[in-house]
Formats: sequence, C-alpha cells, structure tokens
Amino acid sequence: MSNCLTVTNAVEYAFCPRFTYFQLVLGIEQREGKRGTVQSGRAFHSRHSSTNKNYKIKRFEGIKQTELLLYSKKYAFSGKIDEAIEADDQILIIERKYSDYIFIGSTIKTQLGLLAILLEENTGKKVNQAVVVFDKKERVEVPVKITEKMKQKALLLLQQTSRVIETNRMPYSKHDNRCTNCCYRKICP
Ligand code: SF4
Repeated sequence: MSNCLTVTNAVEYAFCPRFTYFQLVLGIEQREGKRGTVQSGRAFHSRHSSTNKNYKIKRFEGIKQTELLLYSKKYAFSGKIDEAIEADDQILIIERKYSDYIFIGSTIKTQLGLLAILLEENTGKKVNQAVVVFDKKERVEVPVKITEKMKQKALLLLQQTSRVIETNRMPYSKHDNRCTNCCYRKICP
C-alpha cells in the first residue's frame, strides 16, 4: 500500500469516496472547523481522553491507555487511539461520539477495524471488542464485536482510499442525506 494514510482518511472514504478525491487529490481543505458539531465533537474527545482517565468499562479489568499514536509497518498507515483498556491478553477500545444518532455504520466499523489492527500489530494482544459511547443529550454505551471480517473490510477501504490518490480519478458517489452536512457540497457535481 503506498503513501502513509491515516485512519481518518479511510473513515472519510467510507463516508464518501468523493470526499477523498476533493481532499486528497485536489487538495481542497475541509472547512469542517467552521461547523459547530465538529468543533464540539473535538472538544468532547479531547476533554474525555485527557480528564477522564479513570473511566472504565464494567466487566473489563485492565490499565487505561489514552492518546496512543500508532503506525502500522505492515500496512503503512497511522492512527490515534483516544482511549483503550489494556488487559493481560487483550485490549478493549473505547470510542466516543458526540451524537445522539445511535448507529454503528460503515464509518465507525472502518475506524474500529483499523484501530484494532494498529493495536494488535504494536502490542501483540488481541483486540476483538470495543465500546462506542454516544453522548450528547443522552449517554448510551454500545458494545461492538470487532471481527476479522470488519478488519478486512476496513483494510480494503484503506486500499481504495490509496487508489483514489494514485489514479487521480473522481470516484462515483450518489447524492443523498450525507451531502447536507458535507463541506464539499457546493463544488460536488
Ligand atoms: S456532496 Fe455528497 S457526494 Fe459530494 S463529496 Fe459530499 S457527501 Fe460525497
């Protein structure tokens, strides 16, 4: 796999392949900083990973790890694990979403699959579970099983992200609800 992509790049491809084209081929910067939800989400992530170091998941004992920046030599990509609990033989990922939309879709699965690959390669421990914490008006914890299939699909999306950059071609994508909040909607044909 060429180029050092990030987990975020693949998650954005999972959101919309054309997003990747505008950002990584044409080099048009995201104007997401101006969107309130993204700013709030970032503040939320950083607040929790730095101040809530004692937060644990029931029935999973281990040492809390935060803000781990990891690189995969095998697949040439990097990513950051905001929170995880490390036990003797396995690791559980905690992922927070500033949202009341309780749904484990392709973007979250891609993120968890790639973060699991990073952790497994760098620690030698199995990563087969995560807890996604949705927290805006209400707080809901959703346990997610990280399967081999999820990891393979995430790697495929990482590879497809790389292919968009290599071919310089605008990928097909249909317009739908995602476009409403997309920063490229005004230039997307
Ligand atoms: S406007 Fe819609 S189709 Fe175009 S990049 Fe954004 S999400 Fe994708």
